[in-house]
Amino acid sequence: MLKDTNCGELRSADSGRKVRLAGWVHRRRDHGGLIFIDLRDASGIVQLVLNPENAAAHAAAHRARIEWVLQVEGEVRNRDAATVNPNMATGEVEVVPTTVSILNEAATPPFYINEPVDVDENLRLKFRYLDLRRPEVARVIYLRHEVVRHIREFLYARGFIEVETPTLIKSTPEGARDFLVPSRMRPGSFFALPQSPQILKQLLMYGGVEKYFQIARCYRDEDTRANRVAEHTQLDLEMAFVDQEDVMALIEELYTGIAQKFGSGSLLQAPFPRIDYQDAMNRYGIDRPDLRFGLEFVDIAEPLRGSGFQVFAGALQAGGQIKAIRVLGRADMTRRDIDELTEIARSGGAKGLAYIGFTPGELRSPIAKFLSETEIASIKTLTGAEDGDMVFIVADQPAVVARALHEVRTSLGQRLGLIPEGVLAFAWVTGFPLLEWHPDEQRWDATHNPFCGFPESSREHLQPGGDPGKAASFQYDLVCNGAELGGGSIRISNRADQELVFSLMGHSPEQQADRFGVVLDALEYGAPPEGGVGAGIDRLIMTLAGTENIRDVIAFPKASSGSDPLMGSPTPVDAGQLEELGLLLKPSAPQA
Ligand code: ASP
Repeated sequence: MLKDTNCGELRSADSGRKVRLAGWVHRRRDHGGLIFIDLRDASGIVQLVLNPENAAAHAAAHRARIEWVLQVEGEVRNRDAATVNPNMATGEVEVVPTTVSILNEAATPPFYINEPVDVDENLRLKFRYLDLRRPEVARVIYLRHEVVRHIREFLYARGFIEVETPTLIKSTPEGARDFLVPSRMRPGSFFALPQSPQILKQLLMYGGVEKYFQIARCYRDEDTRANRVAEHTQLDLEMAFVDQEDVMALIEELYTGIAQKFGSGSLLQAPFPRIDYQDAMNRYGIDRPDLRFGLEFVDIAEPLRGSGFQVFAGALQAGGQIKAIRVLGRADMTRRDIDELTEIARSGGAKGLAYIGFTPGELRSPIAKFLSETEIASIKTLTGAEDGDMVFIVADQPAVVARALHEVRTSLGQRLGLIPEGVLAFAWVTGFPLLEWHPDEQRWDATHNPFCGFPESSREHLQPGGDPGKAASFQYDLVCNGAELGGGSIRISNRADQELVFSLMGHSPEQQADRFGVVLDALEYGAPPEGGVGAGIDRLIMTLAGTENIRDVIAFPKASSGSDPLMGSPTPVDAGQLEELGLLLKPSAPQA
């Protein structure tokens, strides 16, 4: 064994122990006489002290440079009180080596490993194996491992079995674009990488597996945006003979445990509050509200219906809404803050952001002069504003009010410091509609998942002559701190209902048979009532680690451009490979 002890585990109780360590030179201070080396391995860092009396060890330490690989034998001793370092886990001890062997030398790294400095993301990813040596980077990868291990153990203990589903499957439209894999055996035909194991996990339930889970990789060929990646990992889970409450209770217990064990702070509320979808839209303008702070929307339309102020009256006449956010004690907000918030509202689609500052004496408001005293008094009453408060208002179509005011609310939460550190505000959002109308394509689409079930009371809305937009669903989403951590549903469990939904979505019987025939057929052979969830692991770790960058929680992520600076992929392939696959590139595509 090249090492018998981990650097980061040494404590005062180990004083006097002879140890064999191995690791990397994290830092080195050569004072001519004494040399100090911080030796780092996966467990942490310990200080080595070399004095010139041990000439061979001292000479090796003198030669060693940052990131060289050393093996050390020596004795642990307590540091003098004056040199104890309370910022280091091993800060009470140091190791006095008897031998230092250089196992490998290292070129100068392209960036600092021993300091948490900002490094260009492409450079970090190109040298990801060096980036992973940085303790703050490694910490998140270890956290991820521990969380996944906790999930597995929790589910094993409750009778779940882990089943791998194939990653070469049939292309099925699931919302996003599929990644395609050409078949060599059947030129011209393609496999697709799964967007999620949805169909396969349902087939497992039909196959008699009652409790399944998988830490599943899912692929979506989308244009990469800030926190989107082409491949993500989700806890994919399905259970037979359950209702909505059963699945939610299980996931709530799991996530409460994770938050308590790995969260840096506290749960805002347990049990998790349940919010109705429409209620969330009304109060926060979004179906994944951040509940760590207030600033809820207030509907102030009623007293303004007949207003002489055309911006308000006109918006209402056109079927729009007028909603406000009251900000406590900030009537004196700076001009600059107001301008920035106005820009934010505009980028959310609004034409502007109206405001009334209830400053004593004259109101601070460019719109007050267009409103009657009664109208202003009503706005004050409805929003609960008092002297000294500020009220922001957006009047527009409902979707615009929701989007713009949500952005304003989020920005206010941040700029006013209303978001408490370390708090995890989980909630369930339920009561989603089953279908939503897509005007561009003139068809209904599932709000979440075409397999999502609906209550009997909604059946009438799905029949000819009904309004499918009124149908309720068995969908539930888990949200935390303004992010969607997962979602799932109780599924449809008979063929007729599944065909009904597919038909409303505009799939002809032939298309249904071609794309979903396997599910439709399987539903005829005694499918149990069943449901499950898909919950993003990357997003969960981001929340726990307090990072906004999804690349921080993945060992080998793609760059934000979607390519991989480490392996240099994607790459063109040579003509022979294309020939075997029966593929011909367009002349405009780069050739190998
Ligand atoms: N298949 C869904 C998803 O990937 C999750 C589910 O409904 O279980 O988001």
